[in-house]
Amino acid sequence: MAVTELPPTAQCAADERIQSILRRQSLRESAARTYARSLPIVPVRARGLTIEGADGRRYLDCLSGAGTLALGHNHPVVLEAIRSVLDSGAPLHVLDLATPVKDAFLDELFATLPPQLAERGRVQFCGPAGTDAVEAALTLVRTATGRDGLLAFTGAYHGMTTGALAASGGARAVSVTRLPFPYDYRCPFGVGGDRGAELAARWTESVLDDDKGGVPAPAGMILEPVQGEGGVIPAPDGWLRRMREITTARGIPLIADEVQTGVGRTGAFWAVEHSGVVPDVMVLSKAIGGSLPLAVVVYRDDLDVWSPGAHAGTFRGNQLAMAAGAATLAFVRENALAERAATLGARILARLRELARRHPCVGDVRGRGLMLGLELVDPEGAAAPIEPALAPGSAAPAHAPGPTSAITPTSALAPAPSLAAAVRQECLGRGLIVELGGRHSSVVRLLPPLTLTDEQAEAVLDRLADALEAVERSYAARAHAPLAPPLPGPAR
Ligand code: PMP
Repeated sequence: MAVTELPPTAQCAADERIQSILRRQSLRESAARTYARSLPIVPVRARGLTIEGADGRRYLDCLSGAGTLALGHNHPVVLEAIRSVLDSGAPLHVLDLATPVKDAFLDELFATLPPQLAERGRVQFCGPAGTDAVEAALTLVRTATGRDGLLAFTGAYHGMTTGALAASGGARAVSVTRLPFPYDYRCPFGVGGDRGAELAARWTESVLDDDKGGVPAPAGMILEPVQGEGGVIPAPDGWLRRMREITTARGIPLIADEVQTGVGRTGAFWAVEHSGVVPDVMVLSKAIGGSLPLAVVVYRDDLDVWSPGAHAGTFRGNQLAMAAGAATLAFVRENALAERAATLGARILARLRELARRHPCVGDVRGRGLMLGLELVDPEGAAAPIEPALAPGSAAPAHAPGPTSAITPTSALAPAPSLAAAVRQECLGRGLIVELGGRHSSVVRLLPPLTLTDEQAEAVLDRLADALEAVERSYAARAHAPLAPPLPGPAR
């Protein structure tokens, strides 16, 4: 069980209080609520990796606000930055006006950006959600190119907005062409590795150059350097460089969605830096606000041809978030936390690979830096059919062109969302918070803060290993239980 220090009677009272809050939540809040369903806890205090519930139970938080908390909960430098704005008497709401706080945030942001982008960079402050910044990036490139097509990838997640602009009378339909993202474990072409990534790149190239390919003229290509919600799938560096070459050669702006991968998470300050690719546009949110809401688009100045108000929003001037964000960016930079994420992440990945060898229900382990995932599979199930390359209505066929004899189907087992959910549940019972992601919700995801210590990493791995063992034990018990005797019924 999660650690608690309350005496038994106080524990009972606290448990009851929590249950009544959760009951009221389920009566008053939306059926669309998400994390609240799988994490029935009521946080009241948090520091670093640890969250404490109203029942006194403590949890190691490897969800980190869906990857937001680069420094963990309530880091002293973040709290100090927020307090200093509050104590200064500065206005908290300033639309998109200039302020010293915003100026300092921009100094810090430009100091961390890939130099080639920083030299000619412009920043659009957005409504404070990643999805709004994605919308802004799309408007930016559509205006700059005069085109309406968008190239995006299978398994991508870029946000939730749709419809508001249409309802306001200002929408121009976007026409998305979906292209294959290299997914080694369930390679859409059935080959995996470098060859799978090369086929994915060749497919992209061929549909763009085919006059009859049915691809609307693209205003931009948007991609995640590591797909997060899609199941922790790092884009191979070589493939990313190919996407850069393909888009440059055709005058298509490349948009890197670094909402989740930014600020050291993957072991580089920005995940595109692993490959040396410099995108034309970067979409940033989550960690850049130091735990408060903030979202921006950074882009090269020649794209800056949109008109005043082309992307607006009431809440673009969150001063507390800018102060907390500047403090976070500076702390990550000054303390080389990206490098720390790279070394610690590699060590954890090696330990997860050992776990995978011992646990047949772990089909694949992958990640970059401190963005890690374990894909759960049915250990006794049949091999899964090869992942269709593209969604219905998209531009590519399910299998790669070329001689079929060159294709060795990958042998991934069927995804096991119920086992993944059971692991998440067992982790919670052991005081460890993890989330699920992936095409089939079968990937257990770890997004610990970059401040994770070696000892904390060990504790996380121990609890995860324990949870996996418990799940496999009950899976085995169920799979091999003797059939229940038939219920007595009427004689036939
Ligand atoms: N892009 C990526 C890569 C994301 O991971 C997310 C959120 N998980 C978003 C965009 C959308 O961000 P938000 O939820 O803040 O709108």
